[in-house]
Amino acid sequence: MKASQLLSPTLRETPAEAEVISHQLLLRAGFIRKAAAGVYTYLPLAQRVLRKISDIVRQEMDREGGQEITLPIIQPAELWMESGRWNVYGDELFRLKDRHGRDFALGPTHEEIITDLVRGEIHSYKQLPLLLYQIANKYRDERRPRFGLMRGREFIMKDLYSFDRDEEGLANTYKKMYDAYTRVFTRCGLKFRPVEADAGAIGGKGGTHEFMVIAESGEAAIVYCDDCDYAANVEKAEAKPQSLAEEAAAELAEVKTPGVKTIEELTKFLGIESDRLIKTLIYQTEKGLVVAVIRGDRQLNEIKLQNLVDTVQLHLADDGVVRLLTGAEVGFAGPVQLPATVCIDGQQVQVQVIVDEEVTLVANGITGANKTDIHLKNVNYGRDFGAHQVTDLRMVEPGEPCPRCGSPLRWARGIEVGQVFKLGTKYSKALNANILDENGKSREMVMGCYGIGVSRTMASAIEQNYDENGIIWPVSIAPFHVIVVPVSAKDDTQMQAAEKIYGQLREMGIEVVLDDRNERPGVKFKDADLIGFPYRLTIGPKTLAEDKVEVFNRRTGQSSLEDIETVAKNIAELIKRELDQLVG
Ligand SMILES: [Zn+2]
Repeated sequence: MKASQLLSPTLRETPAEAEVISHQLLLRAGFIRKAAAGVYTYLPLAQRVLRKISDIVRQEMDREGGQEITLPIIQPAELWMESGRWNVYGDELFRLKDRHGRDFALGPTHEEIITDLVRGEIHSYKQLPLLLYQIANKYRDERRPRFGLMRGREFIMKDLYSFDRDEEGLANTYKKMYDAYTRVFTRCGLKFRPVEADAGAIGGKGGTHEFMVIAESGEAAIVYCDDCDYAANVEKAEAKPQSLAEEAAAELAEVKTPGVKTIEELTKFLGIESDRLIKTLIYQTEKGLVVAVIRGDRQLNEIKLQNLVDTVQLHLADDGVVRLLTGAEVGFAGPVQLPATVCIDGQQVQVQVIVDEEVTLVANGITGANKTDIHLKNVNYGRDFGAHQVTDLRMVEPGEPCPRCGSPLRWARGIEVGQVFKLGTKYSKALNANILDENGKSREMVMGCYGIGVSRTMASAIEQNYDENGIIWPVSIAPFHVIVVPVSAKDDTQMQAAEKIYGQLREMGIEVVLDDRNERPGVKFKDADLIGFPYRLTIGPKTLAEDKVEVFNRRTGQSSLEDIETVAKNIAELIKRELDQLVG
């Protein structure tokens, strides 16, 4: 490709609307242009990167027996109603009507439509396992599309759906996909970690892992261990109870604490550490009130609580409800002698008390007394209050021991680029996707779904690989491997030498751009760095005088002079070696 013909309009200035580095660099280096909020055109350089990522994904899916198909983007509402998601999916679902007034959605995900396909075509256990996938645009009507390709409204995903005869089959398929994902991101040249994650809104009670590209700009905090392979996102990370100094239980007593409501005020007022305090948080859910009890110095993990109670809605109770339950002003709630039910708007509502396991280790703690301006001291779990359930409810904190091996946990930030997910029978049950087993008995197919954000992987690669001059592509997904730069395109000798090397590289299967533009060398070098060609070969009067070419390695920043006769062959071999290493 000649640079003079390549549509890669670079910008000198950083566009004001771009908040994250990948967005800035994709715009500046001429990879994307915005069409509407969260909707982008991919220019040739981006298209090449996307194709490379897609090819890697495709090869690894095929290797595990995946079959590629294309599902419609426009999906009939009836299927979403059948699964029950039409009403619960919310405003993120792009909805549209056809000329007859029939409802449709632009697919954010394809569980319904694929389950509909498979229930019509597959009837015997002998046809399973079945792994179908596509690489296609997905749609999500984000309230605030931002961060360029990170949180767009239209994005490219690979989604694979697996159908197995039973849980054992699913476990086997899940393992295959987990391994395939590991190979995909390794081949893309990215530093990543698979982490245990929360199942979230897709549903299903099985396991799930997220594949996170490690980057400081990552939106998710992940916790991992260097001494074993434990890694989890922070919402999911298991916390082990840390015990405090033991102490004999003292007599329960009231303390006057006029106007003292917050943890900070209380520790100051009583002259104690916050780990002595026992916090009581009251939540409203569709299953009644949930009272979460946790140590004063800890953060409650609402996702753990929500999964435990198995609720759709979970929000802190409003002041009126707190007053009804505790009989006191907000700030004085406690678990001691809390009523088991409460009458709200004429309805008896159940109260469920869930206690974090660390609270059971607090000796002589302090809690609200359920009386305005009064707290209780010497509160002990078991003697003074009980629970419907004692479990891990809190967020892990840095430096805490790994739940598997006890080494200190480390923290990093990551960008989710893939997720593998055991759906179980959620969709096959809702949509009656059944097979006959070997005994002629009808049973629901057991499903999994597995996504990779293809456009997001491209953006994440930049978030992980850049410097002040621009993008530093991993060789395997770089739009081109090499740029050949004659210092002056007007100089025939330089151009001839450049054309020759360009031709040799192309013959050896190397993807190369010849910068034939009439630009100053400084401009060409800046563009080459910005776009992120892994190797730049520069030909100028000084190098030609010695029959040499300057080879610049974008990642290391190092330059060397190589013989003009052998440079193409050597670079081609180097690139092929680098690519082979990634395949492993
Ligand atoms: Zn460990």
